[in-house]
Amino acid sequence: MRRILFFASLLLFQYTHAQQIAFERDSNTTTTYDETIAFYQKLDKKYAACTLLTYGSTDSGKPLHVFVLNKEGQFNPQQLHQQHKTILLINNGIHPGEPEGIDASMMLARDLLEKNNLPRNAVVCIIPVYNVGGMLNRGASRVNQNGPEAYGFRGNARNLDLNRDFIKTDSRNTRSFQEIFHTWKPDIFMDTHTSNGADYQYVMTLIETQTDKLHPVLGDFAPTFTSELYNRMQKSNFGMVPYVNFRGSNPESGLVAFLETPRYSTGYAALHHTIGYMPETHMWKPYPQRVHSTYEILRHFISVADERAAEIHDRRQLALEQSKTQKQFVLTWKLDTIAHRQISFKGYKSGEKLSDVSGFPRQYYDRNKPFTKGIPYYNRYKPDIVVEKPYAYVIPQAWQEVVDLLIINGITVNKLKKDTLLTLQMYYITDYQTGRGPYEGHYLHSNIKVRPEVQQIQCYVGDYMVITNQSGNRYILETLEPQAADSFFSWNFFDSILSQKEYFSAYIFEDEAFRMLNKDLELKKQFEQAKTTDEELRNNGRAQLDWIYKHSAHYEKTHLRYPVGRLLEHSPRPTRFTCSSARTVSSVFE
Ligand SMILES: [Zn+2]
Repeated sequence: MRRILFFASLLLFQYTHAQQIAFERDSNTTTTYDETIAFYQKLDKKYAACTLLTYGSTDSGKPLHVFVLNKEGQFNPQQLHQQHKTILLINNGIHPGEPEGIDASMMLARDLLEKNNLPRNAVVCIIPVYNVGGMLNRGASRVNQNGPEAYGFRGNARNLDLNRDFIKTDSRNTRSFQEIFHTWKPDIFMDTHTSNGADYQYVMTLIETQTDKLHPVLGDFAPTFTSELYNRMQKSNFGMVPYVNFRGSNPESGLVAFLETPRYSTGYAALHHTIGYMPETHMWKPYPQRVHSTYEILRHFISVADERAAEIHDRRQLALEQSKTQKQFVLTWKLDTIAHRQISFKGYKSGEKLSDVSGFPRQYYDRNKPFTKGIPYYNRYKPDIVVEKPYAYVIPQAWQEVVDLLIINGITVNKLKKDTLLTLQMYYITDYQTGRGPYEGHYLHSNIKVRPEVQQIQCYVGDYMVITNQSGNRYILETLEPQAADSFFSWNFFDSILSQKEYFSAYIFEDEAFRMLNKDLELKKQFEQAKTTDEELRNNGRAQLDWIYKHSAHYEKTHLRYPVGRLLEHSPRPTRFTCSSARTVSSVFE
């Protein structure tokens, strides 16, 4: 019945809409890049309540577009925020092989305009396609996907997966996105996707910003918004389930809420106190159902945001305000393996049989054996590494690319006005692991351990100071603290500090080392102690020389020293460090 209704509605589309998209002519087809932009340009010309804007470039050389819909035909983001409008940002085609959102957004934007049905309290910003280069690279690269016939590719023009790029910002797409994000400051965000993985009965699944990661005033609210999306999708005949990320070998083992760290779109949005959603349709369902369900979730997303605009706006402002004085920040999270709730899950029986290809056992899902049963859903995370924020971070100007990213992200950065000796807490990197192979153009570090040490650090005129009294504090802490899950350190921004620049020649240093031990009895005592506890050291002459070298005045202090210093307290003496504004806002020191 649903299918008949759906095709009837397709026929209706054919006869009523002046502007059709390719999908409406052939439901196994998705739009091309040129058709998409031409479509929005035509809407822009025809209606006063919308405008098509461009922001910066993408790695393909083509600009990034944003289509903005406002009933009142006014498109100044500052004024719209002053009017307490809720700003929605919808992102499509970050993975262009998952094009439902591209098609659904075009139809929805047109329908809202045609029927004069735009929300009163919400402004809708749509990125028609984010990964422009990927969309231009059209083919059929998703082997397990049930249509459309041809579509774009996951990698962008630089072969980057843009949904891992929100912190390292290797692509021009991401830079332009961040400009859009900080111009429009969306209160709420949706990034449309298609999933692969297990088979189950649902067309649509949903990832929401993991609520423990949100500021409590948003974390309390987001689940009520989410459950309204679930209710309305059920009424639209597209009942949903959380994204099917399961604990064991199949979904019956229980689902685990996906922890979207800041490298992902919604994890990035959460750093700026924006509630995020990633709808994920199931790739093996027919394309028309996937487009239709995406259309429905976008429609409900807009209407719930419209109805609850005042509350969303107030809570978000409160979160932004309170984060300025927040003292502690969580850098990593771990799954609470005990807390869970039961959810009803409509799956297909899975099992193992012998492969016709290899003769070895293979997994399969039997669509003739659907089931509905209660399964555990683990959706709580507990703080793991937590830090106290310093008064400010001091960044030597040598690390300009880090400062550039802070500025793009709306962070106020000050410059030292003169050479200054500062007492800073510095971190030494004491342990870390590095991925064996390249990951998104990087050799990602993880499990980073640090040892803090207070030192006198010579800073120079033009070095940067970032004071942690900002609504962007989460972005500051979660990028600059090396232990954070997606810190700049983990993404290799500071790798040059990891290698030692000077060494000793053993045959010359032998005599010097002997002299040092005899001259410094305390050092000698420590050395003997180290040998008793460390067998490797005891049995290795070179290692012993290295131990003495590293305890000598010759050993470089900068080896393994993370260069961003933590200024723990603001000095009461105003002349101690004077700063001038670095492009953004005037200094607090003047
Ligand atoms: Zn995706």
